[in-house]
Amino acid sequence: MQESFFEENSSANAQKESAGAFRDLNDLYEQSKNCRKCRLADTRTNYVFGEGNSEAKIVVIGEAPGAEEDAQGRPFVGRSGKLLDKILEAIGFSRDDVFICNIIKCRPPANRNPLADEITCCMPWLNAQLALLDPAVLLLLGKVAANTLLDNKQSMGNLRGKIIRWNGYDVIVTYHPAALLRNPNWKRQCWDDVRMLRSHYDKTIHK
Ligand code: SF4
Repeated sequence: MQESFFEENSSANAQKESAGAFRDLNDLYEQSKNCRKCRLADTRTNYVFGEGNSEAKIVVIGEAPGAEEDAQGRPFVGRSGKLLDKILEAIGFSRDDVFICNIIKCRPPANRNPLADEITCCMPWLNAQLALLDPAVLLLLGKVAANTLLDNKQSMGNLRGKIIRWNGYDVIVTYHPAALLRNPNWKRQCWDDVRMLRSHYDKTIHK
């Protein structure tokens, strides 16, 4: 671990409040899949809840579904998803070892960044997912996911390369796979981040 610090905000309370509202992930999916709380419901093809191991100690969180994810209703299934699979495989994990989801559950048109009111509308679903999954580690992919969840405006340079203690989770931030496809030079730093994730997992979770 290179550095730790602690941040606390109202999300902790939001997640605790979410814990009792749903029986399990299936119940949450059933109650959220027809959500129309924001304008993205009008343009989506599919709601993208997320998928993976409901007992996972690691939750991988991206920004929002892209075109392929919107078409299939599954997270990280396009080119970015294939790269994410390779990144996980490189540190000895498969999709079955983690749970993968996004901050926003419906695709923003033309893959634009989610708007503030869309994030506000959608965050309760992610808070409920985290409350039910109760992971130890969050791997946040990209600046939008990190700034949204950590409620800050820090740069990737400040966010990555360390373990952030936040709301009871150990949080590691790295580049979004889509950014790595555009800028392969960042793969080295991503590799450093995910090796830190593996090492932290082995030392503290899977002892
Ligand atoms: S993006 Fe989130 S809040 Fe908006 S409609 Fe989809 S699930 Fe509901």
